[in-house]
This record gives sequence, structure tokens and C-alpha cells, in this order.
Amino acid sequence: MEIIRTVKEMKSKVKGLNKTGKTISLVPTMGFLHEGHLSLIRKAKKISDIVVLSIFVNPTQFSPGEDFEAYPRDINRDENLAIENGVDYLFYPNKEDIYNNNYSTYVNVNKFSKYLCGDVRNNHFQGVSTIVLKLFNIVRPDYAVFGKKDAQQLRIIQKLVEDLNLDVEIVPGEIIRTSEGLALSSRNKYLNDKQKKEALGLRKSLILGEKIIKEAKENRTEIIKEIKQNIKQNYPNLRIDYIDILNYENWEKEEELNGTVLLAGAVYIGKARLIDNILISLY
Ligand code: AMP
Repeated sequence: MEIIRTVKEMKSKVKGLNKTGKTISLVPTMGFLHEGHLSLIRKAKKISDIVVLSIFVNPTQFSPGEDFEAYPRDINRDENLAIENGVDYLFYPNKEDIYNNNYSTYVNVNKFSKYLCGDVRNNHFQGVSTIVLKLFNIVRPDYAVFGKKDAQQLRIIQKLVEDLNLDVEIVPGEIIRTSEGLALSSRNKYLNDKQKKEALGLRKSLILGEKIIKEAKENRTEIIKEIKQNIKQNYPNLRIDYIDILNYENWEKEEELNGTVLLAGAVYIGKARLIDNILISLY
């Protein structure tokens, strides 16, 4: 595996690879790799000749007061995991190289950046869309693999590619969980064992919501209320950031649930903010 630390070097590497006709997959991450990331790398390996893993804790997607500085980092461990899982190039730029002194260009996927995390994390998705578009321009991948764990992010990137006619195929990866059901996240590092157990309350409450949605007896507002009540009653240490239900295709909040429905939630526990979701097909 080759480690590439500058945009210039990455671009020149890609130029060489393009001449060979080899296909490239990009797996963008913020590092502190876990099985969720590794499953995306393995998926990328299956669909293309070359896998580029990027590790960049992107400052523009953190709001003031969020955990940019504290975000877990361990590049040596990540390097070893990347090698073990067959990454060809680890792109590990520094933030000055990505964002120059007078950096001023941002991209917004307007409609899909509303609701859920978009309503509670200021400019988060502007930062995400911008860094992903920059990474696409630097690496020029044929495929880019994103986890369904960040369902809104995945939807935004799909829309970015569609709206800006980008030549990259977005490949979704399934959510990887602990045996008990907790979605893996670099931020789980902030949790002790007791908190990890309590954090399962989000998953369990979303499963309850899924059941009610499939029974189709109640409308959106009532179902959200029930899920929130379940969390408050059974998991008192979880602080609800949001619980919401959207049409995943048009990103509308429709009281009558139809088509592909996204049930998503975010909770705080201790220092950590955790998200999870279930995509439900009502066809
Ligand atoms: P992050 O490093 O958290 O920015 O995530 C990088 C990529 O890994 C994103 O596409 C995430 O959706 C994906 N990812 C994070 N956690 C998981 C998980 N538990 N299962 C599958 N993909 C994940």
C-alpha cells in the first residue's frame, strides 16, 4: 500500500492509473477505522481494480462546539487495517492542502440537506458535499462507496452526482452493527460499556417504529411520538436530538407513508451523539 499525503501527488498518481485503464474505487472516511469502514473497503475491492481509501477529518463539516479536535484519530492503527484489507492507496492529506488560506467555494444540495441532521448541525452537509466533491475531483473514481449508516449523507451524495452530472457511481454499503445491534461508529469510543448498552435503546426504538410503520395503522406524527415516548420511558440516559420519518425518494414529510421511507434518529449519551436509521420499503 502506498500512502499519499498531498493533493498534487494523488492527482498525478490517478493520471498514471487512468492510462492503464484500471478502474478506481474511493472510500472516503474520517479514519479511526472499524468494521463498518472495512466492509466498505472490501466492497470496493470486489467492484474495481484499485481501492483508494481517504482519511481526512474534515473541519468544514463540524460546527463550532462540536468534537472536531476530540474526534478519535489513530493513523498507525488505520494504516495497518488498510493494508490488511487490501487498500492500494491511502490518501491522507492535511487540512491546509485541502483548504487553502482564502478557501471560499462550497456546494450545497439544498433540499436534501434539510431535516434530520441538516436541521440540527449547522452547515454540516455543506461541508460534507464540498469535501466529497473535492475528493471526487482529486481521485476521479469510477465508484465511491458510502455506508447506509449515514443515510442522509448517502442521499445527498447521490443527488450531488445526479445534479452535477458527475462520472462516478455511488455504491451503498450495509450498516455494520455489534452482535447486539449497536451501529459501529468511531464515536462509540466515547462510550463506556454501560452507555453502549443504553445506546441500544435508539436501535430498539427504531425497530419498534418500523413495526408500527409496517402495520400501517398510524400516521407519521403519531409514530414519531410513540418512538420518542419509548425512548424516554425505557432509556432515561438517552437525550433525543431528533426522531423523524421521511420519504427517502422525494425527501418530503408525508403523513401518509408510501414508497421507500427513512426512519432516522439521533441521540446524545454522555459526550457522544449517535445516529441510526432504518430504510423501509412499503411497495
Ligand atoms: P466516517 O469515517 O464516520 O465519516 O464514515 C466513513 C464512511 O463509513 C461513511 O460512508 C459512513 O457511512 C461509513 N460508515 C460509518 N459507520 C458505518 C457502519 N457502522 N456501517 C457501514 N458503514 C459505516
